[in-house]
Amino acid sequence: MKSGKYIVLIVSVLILAFASSCEPLPKYPAHLPKLVADLETEPVDAFSMQDAADDPAIWVDSSNVSQSTIIGTNKLRGLEVYDLQGKRLHSYKFGRLNNIDLRYGFPLNDSIRIDIVAGSERNFNQIMVFAINPQDRSLYEVSEGISTSIQEVYGFCLYYSISSDAYYAFINGKSGRIDQWKLIVLENGKVGGELVRTLDVRTQPEGMVADDKTGKLYVGEEGEGIWVFNAEPYADTKGKLIKNSGEENPNIRYDIEGLAIYDNGEKRYLLASSQGNNTYAIFNLNEDNTYLGSFAIATEKFDGVEETDGIEVSAANFGGEFSNGIFIAQDGFNLDPKGKVVAQNFKILSWKKIEALIPQSTDSAMNE
Ligand code: CA
Ligand code: CA
Ligand code: CA
Ligand code: CA
Ligand code: CA
Repeated sequence: MKSGKYIVLIVSVLILAFASSCEPLPKYPAHLPKLVADLETEPVDAFSMQDAADDPAIWVDSSNVSQSTIIGTNKLRGLEVYDLQGKRLHSYKFGRLNNIDLRYGFPLNDSIRIDIVAGSERNFNQIMVFAINPQDRSLYEVSEGISTSIQEVYGFCLYYSISSDAYYAFINGKSGRIDQWKLIVLENGKVGGELVRTLDVRTQPEGMVADDKTGKLYVGEEGEGIWVFNAEPYADTKGKLIKNSGEENPNIRYDIEGLAIYDNGEKRYLLASSQGNNTYAIFNLNEDNTYLGSFAIATEKFDGVEETDGIEVSAANFGGEFSNGIFIAQDGFNLDPKGKVVAQNFKILSWKKIEALIPQSTDSAMNE
């Protein structure tokens, strides 16, 4: 049948056109559970093939949760601020900020406390600290840049020490060095830093997160696994590698990238981006960092998520589907609704979807 052949030809051409516009196609491990994004942010201000978006942070506005923001790095030029629907509110050319983190209530003086977002900036190998203006959700710098002697700064996280009521920044370099800085207020009223100690891992680290509740620092060594250190400045500098956090775990493929902590006051998990197989691993912080399982984020209403760098999670009640919190992942290959590659962005998922995968007793497994 002539018309039949014609239809086959058209369909083949359409499939080829679709496939080429979607390169590279996602490769999710077949046996792992697949979730789908609920929302996505606008693409970062970059060209379609640039590796630009990297690490997200979530600012929870406790006086009006619906006004909370997602702050993301555009590592080519600065920071972007989105509302909870993913709409861009602000875009800043602050410098080449790679990783960021956020803490609440930093004391600028006896009467003013500010919520801060801070990060590693790669033009000047420095730490930059910004305040969040809760009125218009804008950011403004409150440091003058804290210069480090690290050759190529890379990963970054903040730590609030409950025991000493002090704020610290951890910044690492590609060499494996991890510097811990105490954030202080200088005589001119700006936020500065005092280097308090140095830790190290053997090969390139990046993602880091601190658990304020237990005083622990988690460091992803990209081609090795996740280390846990005591985050207190006078503590032992020896780290411990978390079991099943490297490629000895068949569900993990290097690089280990972003790390984030979910804590709802009862359930406490560490999440890690396993960049090499486009998945996310979950470890139980309440049970000696036991590996629980992994999941991927596949295409449905929004395109699936691939080659994730930074992640973030919050257990705050954002209402409705998001009442148990949200999970955010940077998407290395963002597609528009027609399947065309556009600039990278961040995908947003309700925590309820992830929670539903986690076994509530140690008898059942998350992944078969
Ligand atoms: Ca990347
Ligand atoms: Ca971060
Ligand atoms: Ca990396
Ligand atoms: Ca994608
Ligand atoms: Ca998209």
